[in-house]
Amino acid sequence: MRKKIVAGNWKMNKTASEAAALIQGIKKEVAGIAKVDVVVCPPFTDLKDAAAACAGSNVALGAQNVHWEASGAFTGEISAAMLKDLGVTYVIVGHSERRQYFGETDETVNKRTKAALAAGLTPIVCVGETLAERDGGMMEEVVVRQTKEGLSGLGDDLAKVVIAYEPVWAIGTGRTASPAQAQEVHALIRRTLAELSNGDVANSIRIQYGGSMKPENAGELMGQPDIDGGLIGGAALKAESFAAIIKAGV
Ligand code: PEP
Repeated sequence: MRKKIVAGNWKMNKTASEAAALIQGIKKEVAGIAKVDVVVCPPFTDLKDAAAACAGSNVALGAQNVHWEASGAFTGEISAAMLKDLGVTYVIVGHSERRQYFGETDETVNKRTKAALAAGLTPIVCVGETLAERDGGMMEEVVVRQTKEGLSGLGDDLAKVVIAYEPVWAIGTGRTASPAQAQEVHALIRRTLAELSNGDVANSIRIQYGGSMKPENAGELMGQPDIDGGLIGGAALKAESFAAIIKAGV
């Protein structure tokens, strides 16, 4: 039985003090919930205050990106060790906004995933097709390629990753994949994971859905057999709506 995991991707929102206040609100709402892993992923500049706010609670801390090199002349980048040192335990890798606006490729997703795992962080690896790719009949090819190339060469560490299926056409648009549409792709990803490893490992890996998940649709989406939680954007910026999604996964 896979434990559900709900993570908030705050994107470029909230100052450090706002982040601490939001985490206090989330903690109150989700205190005592043990059946769902809860993760917040604020911007880098908030992480120190966010770590203090999360300390001793059931809210874990994630970052939104990580560089693959350990240190050196990489202006503007953040290493896995830097995140780990702040108390970060999860990191989002390959979000579609990184792919779309910042040149992220399957190759860099793979390097970041390996660096995160080597440092003991849990990567949340994002895959998902654009609307043009879905309409052009390319969904399957794109999702399988992103999954295989993003996760290639991980060996036994493959079992440690979390995957987020995020159809790009559903992110921030208010347009959600139907539970059946999402389930179909989650099952495809799980079959692909079995090709990369074996059925037992594939069955143990958690696959979140992301894309306009909100309290109203979270229960039905997470009720699908291969949907193991959510990666939440807009609805993660308010304690009440984020907590309502988490409670829908209990
Ligand atoms: C996201 O960006 O990961 C996301 C799922 O955003 P939203 O929930 O706002 O669609």
